[in-house]
Amino acid sequence: MIDAVLTGLTMPTSSGNLTTSTVTLLGHEMGPVLFDTAAWNQRIALTGQLALRNLAPEDVTAILLTHLHWDHCMNFDLFPNARLMIPEAECRRVRDGGLDPATPAYILDLVRDHARAETFSSGEVLPGVHALQTPGHTAGHMAFMVLSGEINVAITGDALATRSDAAAGVPSTVFGDQDSARESAHQLMSRADVIVPGHDSPFQPTPGMPAVVNPFSHTVGEIHGQH
Ligand SMILES: [Zn+2]
Repeated sequence: MIDAVLTGLTMPTSSGNLTTSTVTLLGHEMGPVLFDTAAWNQRIALTGQLALRNLAPEDVTAILLTHLHWDHCMNFDLFPNARLMIPEAECRRVRDGGLDPATPAYILDLVRDHARAETFSSGEVLPGVHALQTPGHTAGHMAFMVLSGEINVAITGDALATRSDAAAGVPSTVFGDQDSARESAHQLMSRADVIVPGHDSPFQPTPGMPAVVNPFSHTVGEIHGQH
């Protein structure tokens, strides 16, 4: 079972973009796994959505982060029993001074303070969960592929943040290398049956502007079953 418990969005305002990000839940043999933990302003919504699924924060066994931008990786402190799994390449980026406007300098101190923090590289990071290097949005960005039944689901973070990114073939925000960002987007679009993006609802990777596959239910199995 894969479920986008929070779906992100970006809304322009006169005070800058109002941003929320996607948090995806995987029912794993080892226990519930979260992909990203969203921004501060989603903290109450995150625990509330888990409670609707009869999950307490203590039940979460692992958190996998796509990257270290503030809007994707806060709130991990809510999950005391979870392994906090951070892309090694993202840690290296920040450690080597690769900060950008969305990466606070103190982020490495925060994640290091978590009792169960660890890093990962590409490959099978949990049974059935494969991490892919998807540089471009940030130099160390990672995405994840999960097989749900016969459906290849890509949890893409900001390597494909929105359906507009998919239509353009490149994320709209690139802090790293533009060519790498385009290649990462192409890799994800060509390998996945369903995309769970960082700031939008799940969609299927079709040419042109993909439609939201089901705006009312974000359970990926249900979404795919309608097509
Ligand atoms: Zn980002």
